[in-house]
Order: sequence, then structure tokens, then C-alpha cells
Amino acid sequence: MIYLDHAATTPLDPAVLQAMLPWLQGRFGNPASDHAWGQAARAAVERARSQVAALLGAQPEEIIWTSGATEANNLAIKGALEFRGLRGAHMVTARTEHKSVVDSVRQLESQGLRVTWLKPDAQGLITAEQVLAALTPDTALVSLMWVNNETGGINPVEALAPLLRERGILFHVDAVQAAGKLPIDLSRTPADLLSLSAHKLYGPQGIGALFVRKRPRARLSPQLHGGGHEQGMRSGTLPTHQIAGFGEACRIAGERMAEEGARLSALRDRLQQLLQAALPGLHLNGHPQSRAPGILNLSFEGVEGESLRASLGDLAVSSGSACSSATREPSYVLRALGRDDELAGASLRFSLGRGTTPAEVDQAAARVIGAVGSLRRIAGSGTAALVSPPLNAHGYAAPVWAAFSDPRHAATLPEGAIAASAGSPAGALRLRLQAELDGRRIVRAAWQAYGCPVTLAVGEWLAGWLEGRSAGELQLSAADLRAALEIGDDKAQCALLGEDAVLALERQMSLA
Ligand SMILES: *Cc1c(COP(=O)(O)O)cnc(C)c1O
Repeated sequence: MIYLDHAATTPLDPAVLQAMLPWLQGRFGNPASDHAWGQAARAAVERARSQVAALLGAQPEEIIWTSGATEANNLAIKGALEFRGLRGAHMVTARTEHKSVVDSVRQLESQGLRVTWLKPDAQGLITAEQVLAALTPDTALVSLMWVNNETGGINPVEALAPLLRERGILFHVDAVQAAGKLPIDLSRTPADLLSLSAHKLYGPQGIGALFVRKRPRARLSPQLHGGGHEQGMRSGTLPTHQIAGFGEACRIAGERMAEEGARLSALRDRLQQLLQAALPGLHLNGHPQSRAPGILNLSFEGVEGESLRASLGDLAVSSGSACSSATREPSYVLRALGRDDELAGASLRFSLGRGTTPAEVDQAAARVIGAVGSLRRIAGSGTAALVSPPLNAHGYAAPVWAAFSDPRHAATLPEGAIAASAGSPAGALRLRLQAELDGRRIVRAAWQAYGCPVTLAVGEWLAGWLEGRSAGELQLSAADLRAALEIGDDKAQCALLGEDAVLALERQMSLA
């Protein structure tokens, strides 16, 4: 397994685990308790608070613990606007924000908040001018991420913060992908609210923080009510082990930032160069310069996203394919920067991290080059050799996987073979069947297709089925195909495409 998905989550640093273990093995106490146990836990929590603050150039008392950045983003946005009052309020944010910002803002929008949703430029960035142009006398809050989690693009947060301060507008920054990767100094960058998550910087999952500025004071309405912990802004017993781990993770990240940033930038550039040298038709999703180390997002022309993802097996990367997300829509971030559905779907985000080696980058590049070449050839637009995907990592049914992973009939037959197609030539799904005849009998069959793994499996299965059959023996329904390949309702259209292709082939054979 090669893990290039550090923007989704990072492994726990061994030193972080060591900082957590005492609080899971014997040492315990509620940091809110008065007695010695409580005091010891409180001391660990306060030490961690200083470590997190130090990474940001903030004061310890400006750090509020949350369960993660999703909660920190919710607290910042809903808390700030609820405190001000939604009536007549306006805010500015971008379409490329993380879902936890987008959906928090949408929720308030449904309650009457007026929102300007900024559209990024073709390279995925929001400019300071764009933000300034969107301000109105009623603008209470601007929320803009520091580094985009899909493209790695760096928004002009440092330039924007003083301009918003001058105008007295609260500025919230989702800094999850920036913290520990780029220098952040909140003593010089006057953002008011800033969200962090431990598991994006080698800390544990389930803990995050919101920086809430003291001078001038950013005011929030709490979103969780209870014991009044965290200065009343976030009630709930503090998880000492998580917090101790988060603090240690920030300490390590600060220590290694410069060196690790240079290393990751070089590895990312190497990956990009290897892919670009071997594959035409690549599109960089993001800004070529203004980008954080470690994230590379590319779209691949002429391949279908789900098949690309399925072909990568033992390579853990994030895919823009609709099937990789709970919502089944291709990446809204890539759509916002102007990619069509097909290119947005056929995208991969590689995110490199502390454990990534040059050898892994080379192997990952080779795997992707093989997969893209193979799928382009299957779609009829390439000449590369076919390579078998290594691993059924996404749980395709056994017969689908068997056919998809061994596409021995994927080919073009010589002149004189009968050919028939189904699907739309430019659409997201197409299948072409070919048959070489001896009299009325098919002696050889071949297929080409553009589509998901199930479509490709249908092509492979059909070619095997066709061989040896005569013109009169080509009765096959979509239901037969679904049964043979165990195709579910969600992929019924792939079986229909197969049925159409067989009908079309039969028609061509009867004309021949
Ligand atoms: C991961 C991520 C989040 C959410 O963080 P959690 O702690 O997992 O809730 C928010 N914003 C960005 C940019 C992220 O990458």
C-alpha cells in the first residue's frame, strides 16, 4: 500500500502517541476537577494549549478546544453571526471552502443571512480584491480558507486580514491545511477566528481547536451548552489524552516545518514531472506557484474517473470521481474552478506526507501512468499496453472484477471485422463491439469502452460470450447480463448498454 492521502488524514506520529499514552494508561482526572488528579490533567491541557498557540503566534487563552475543525468552523461561523444577530447581516465566503464551512453558511442562509459566494479563478484562488469588492455596509463576517484541501492553493489570507481589520469586519480562516505546513503568525496577521484539526498534522482524530482573538475581542454565541468550559464558548469535558497529543503534534510540526516543507515540495514536483513527461492530456487543478507543499491535483483527459480510481488498487489517493464521495457529485471544488463533470471526475489528489519516500513517489507515478495508458487504450484513444489493476479495493462484485481486471479481449480487430457501438460517442458511457466472422460464426470478438468498471466488465464479458456463437444465437437481455455479472440497480445502465451493443452487432451481422 502506498498512502498519498495525507490531506484526508495523517498517521499518528509515534512521539504524539507517547504523549497521549499516560492519559490512557493509569493517569486520569477531569481537568475541571479541583483535586490533584484534576490539576494534573489540567496542567497537561494547559501545556498543550501553549503548544498549539505557539504554532500560531497566538496567546494560550485564545485557543478553544473543539472535537475537530468541522466543529470549529461551525462554532466560528454560527457563533459569530448568532452573536451579532442574523437580521440584516451579510457575509462573504467562497464556493471552494470545505463542506463544514459551506454547509454551516447554507444553514444560516436558509435562516435569512445574505451571502456572497465568491467564485475562484481558473487556478482555484480567491483574490483580496474580489473579497473587498463583495463587502457591503452590512458585512459582518468573511470566511476564507488559508489552503484549499483539494488543490493545495494558498489564498491571500495575510494580505486580506489587515484590510478587513481596518474595516472592522470579522475574519474567519479555516487553516486546517495550512497549520504546520506554512508559517502562521497571528501576532502579525490580524485574523479573528481560525480553525485547526489535529489529525491533519499527525495528531489524533477527534480533536481540534478554534483560535478566538482576545484583542480586539471576537465574540461568539456558544453552540454547545453545558458546564461552561472553555470560557463558556464550548462546554464539555476536555479529552486530556487527545489534547496532549494535539499539543505534541503542533510542537513537532513547528520544529520540522521548514525542512519538511522543502522536502515535500520537491517530492510533489517530482511526481508532477514524472506524470507530465509520460502522459499527454494532463491538467493541473490549482495554482502552479501559490500552493502548499505536498498536494498535487491533476485531471486526466480521456479516462473515466471511477475506472481510474478502481485501477489504482493499492495506491491510496483521493479521487474526484462521484463514486468516491457520499454525495455522488463530482468534486464541487473542481467544478467551481471550471472543470467539466468528466475532467472533475477523472481527477486525482495526491497528498504527500512525512512518511512519503522518493521510491513511493516513483511507484505511484508508474502505477498511474500504467492505469491511464491502459484505460485510454481500452477507450480507443491510446496505444499503451494493458495492465491489470492490482487489487479490488472498492468492493466490486467478483464477476465484474474478474472481467475488469483481465481485459484480454480489449482490442481492435483488423479491417473486415463487423463493428457496432452503443452509447453516445461523446457521452460518459460508450461500448463498441467487434466480431470477426467465419461464415455466420463469430471466431473472434473484441471490445473497446469508455465508462466505469462495470461498463468495461460488460465489454469483456460480452466479447467472451460472443466467440463461437452464430448470427442466430445472439439473444441476450440486460437482465441476463445483470445476473451473469451480479450488477446492482445502481449500475443497471451498464447492462442496458451491453444489450444495446449486442443488438447493434446482430443488426450489422444480418446486413453483412
Ligand atoms: C479535514 C478538514 C476539515 C475538517 O476537519 P475535521 O477535524 O476532520 O472535522 C475542515 N477543513 C479543511 C480544509 C479540512 O481539510
